[in-house]
Amino acid sequence: MSAIDFKRLTSHCKEYGFIFQSSEIYDGLAAVYDYGPNGVELKKNIESYWWKSMVQMHDNIVGIDAAIFMHPKVWKASGHVDAFNDPLVDNKDSKKRYRADQLIEGYCEKIEAKIKKDVDKAAKRFGDAFDEKQFRETNQRIIDRQAKIDAAMNSMNSFLKEEDMEGLKNLIEELEIACPESGSRNWTEVRQFNLMFSTQLGNIAGEEGKLYLRPETAQGIFTNFLNVQKTSRQKVPFGIAQIGKAFRNEIIARQFTFRMREFHQMEMQFFVRPGEDEKWYDYWKNTRLAWHKAIGSPAEKLRFHDHDNLAHYANAALDIEFEFPFGFRELEGIHSRTDFDLKSHQELSGRKIQYFDPEINENYVPYVVETSIGLDRMILAQMANALQDETVPDADGKESTRTVLKLHPSLSPNKCAILPLLKNHEGLVNMGKDVFNNFKKSFNTIYDEKDAIGRRYRRQDAIGTPFCLTIDHQSLEDQTVTLRNRDDLSQVRISVEEAKAKVKANIEFPL
Ligand code: ATP
Repeated sequence: MSAIDFKRLTSHCKEYGFIFQSSEIYDGLAAVYDYGPNGVELKKNIESYWWKSMVQMHDNIVGIDAAIFMHPKVWKASGHVDAFNDPLVDNKDSKKRYRADQLIEGYCEKIEAKIKKDVDKAAKRFGDAFDEKQFRETNQRIIDRQAKIDAAMNSMNSFLKEEDMEGLKNLIEELEIACPESGSRNWTEVRQFNLMFSTQLGNIAGEEGKLYLRPETAQGIFTNFLNVQKTSRQKVPFGIAQIGKAFRNEIIARQFTFRMREFHQMEMQFFVRPGEDEKWYDYWKNTRLAWHKAIGSPAEKLRFHDHDNLAHYANAALDIEFEFPFGFRELEGIHSRTDFDLKSHQELSGRKIQYFDPEINENYVPYVVETSIGLDRMILAQMANALQDETVPDADGKESTRTVLKLHPSLSPNKCAILPLLKNHEGLVNMGKDVFNNFKKSFNTIYDEKDAIGRRYRRQDAIGTPFCLTIDHQSLEDQTVTLRNRDDLSQVRISVEEAKAKVKANIEFPL
């Protein structure tokens, strides 16, 4: 079994109808993507897995679906108008635009790659006796390189914290960072760039009519806090969950659907008593990590990463990082947002946003612990983890390679493929169609009669179908079929109803 590189992953996504570039016939729109017939099913399944485990499995979490447009004051109160910025810098020769922090991180990643090369070499040389920790701590070349990384990251973090754009520019020059495109070090000043897209209301001219496309779904939850609490009669601690579109004018759009300008978020804000935020932050970070593992993401591809720079609203924050083909990157954020948002809305709207806690006989503004995951990033993580090349035995006993998408069966676009052995045999085709019509009422089923059976199996492997059901001549005599398992390639001869029950039993979400 071997993992597949990123380029093949992106072409597989296109070739098998998972993800297409938006407006491709016009050469595409950067960082905007469309989901194809298989992609949309995978997307819906991940949404359902999240929604079921967050809302259905928690008596104290309810859902909403807020509008994308909100009153412009919302974004003033949330801090997005003033502080939702990225530091950008242009290269004067290539005219390319970069995020200053990402240029500096890129410089550090290059040094880290050199360290890793040395470590790998030493590991090979010393074999089983190799102690990586000791090697990193005692090898002078590695110590010097690590010191360079630490110094660059520390300076960058303190400049970001102080919003010192001149400091960032000087650091880029000091580190002699060159433009990856032109190789030139001819940089403009670093300046702040607001990531919100805006549009204009038709009936109000000027600033007054300026609307933003929401950059996060969370604010629809905060502004509805009282509506939801009163109508659902929930008591603190309780949560509000939402899945919806968010928009960010990302400067650098790279790495396929990892960083998009229009994407989906799945967010849950959990409202707690002040002082209990730390406890719930721990609860949610562990619960969310377990959610990822349950759907088949391997533990070694997941890790927590505490934030060095806390956002203006947070007193604690971490990312759940996933090892994408281009390295460990943020997949989900867990943020302890204090009472910042509700208090800001209370101040700017002039409306009291408080909760009366009958247990302690007190009014307060609840604290918030948030879990926020990008649906598109989760799809990419699942595709990257599932797609594999595998050596398998052939029908004639030799070995061959197959490309297989080992998605958790609950996430697979189709659960079972119905394959009559021959396409021009009326009996086989009729029975195939009967089984297809029977199964499709219960789960996504696909019918395929074209090509040799081996090729049809491979087609289903490539889109992650967990079961293939084959109808042959014996089926017409005794009503039994062969059910093939995608992962272990086992084949069992059972009745149609037994096959249906078997598929059903294997496609449940791991709740
Ligand atoms: P990053 O540091 O990668 O820009 P962020 O810290 O700004 O992400 P959050 O504001 O915490 O992200 O958003 C929560 C989640 O939304 C992220 O963990 C990610 O999965 C998703 N997300 C954020 N920005 C994008 C984007 N441009 N494209 C796709 N998903 C995104």
